[in-house]
Amino acid sequence: MFGNLSDRLSQSFKQLRGRGVLTEADVDNTIGQIRRALLDADVALPVVRQFTTDVREKAYGAARSKALNPGQQVVRIVHDELVEILGGETRELHFASRGPTVFMLAGLQGAGKTTLAGKLGKWLREEGRSVLLVASDLQRPGAVHQLQVVGGRAGVGVWAPEPGDGVGDPVEVARSGLAHALESGIDVVVVDTAGRLGVDQEMMDQAIAIREAVHPHEILFVLDAMVGQDAVRTSTAFRDGVGFTGVVLSKLDGDARGGAALSVRGVTGAPVLFASTGEGLDDFERFHADRMAGRILD
Ligand code: GDP
Repeated sequence: MFGNLSDRLSQSFKQLRGRGVLTEADVDNTIGQIRRALLDADVALPVVRQFTTDVREKAYGAARSKALNPGQQVVRIVHDELVEILGGETRELHFASRGPTVFMLAGLQGAGKTTLAGKLGKWLREEGRSVLLVASDLQRPGAVHQLQVVGGRAGVGVWAPEPGDGVGDPVEVARSGLAHALESGIDVVVVDTAGRLGVDQEMMDQAIAIREAVHPHEILFVLDAMVGQDAVRTSTAFRDGVGFTGVVLSKLDGDARGGAALSVRGVTGAPVLFASTGEGLDDFERFHADRMAGRILD
């Protein structure tokens, strides 16, 4: 990921580095190149606009200041602005002060929700919390079994509908899972929900019904970073539908151009909380804007 964007950005910095003096025309030229590189990486237009406006003002200042090595300052300004659009400081997760904390996962089919449930389960368990994964994705054939498998690998419990008991009602599964967690003193419940291949009202209504049944402390929207231009449409549909408190970027190990990762915070206003970088349960980390910016500018 970001390979092409990184190359283009470092190319545009080359002509700045080591220069004793910068003119506004030099700045404009560099910003034009950065703008095209971001657009070619599928970064959403409003985010690109915000980025270039902010960088231009500050970079003009650096050019005028006659400071030593103004080119280096412009590189710094671009870095800081990247950190800004990626969300700045990583926000802490919301946990309940008493009783089970509920994390609900939302996103399209194939985004990586079930895999994420396993990753989160393992991560939370290693943090010393007891975890129950709840199988409320009854839409995709095999999703319940898949959750049981990842739960087993993660070493955490899985709440799945008994045959003939609540089958077909994901809201009931979520509700009974939470009740079980409360009775058993489990710390965190992770509710896996059904996606669809595209945004669909029935899916959204179901997610809203689950949300209303379990009152999540975090609704994590899982976004496949490979989706490119579609990221904006999908993210805003989920924001306006079920709503979410944070984003998980999945498949950051892929070779997508990176636009989804760079746009989602600016487009939805919600922070990116985690990054998924592979199919394995350990291919998962807290998202840090400064590290991601560093990777892009490497
Ligand atoms: P769901 O439909 O949202 O529950 O999606 P799944 O969790 O079943 O994931 C869909 C596919 O993407 C599976 O084959 C996963 O192994 C794969 N997957 C999930 N997360 C990642 C990731 O971060 N990187 C890669 N390369 N594959 C992933």
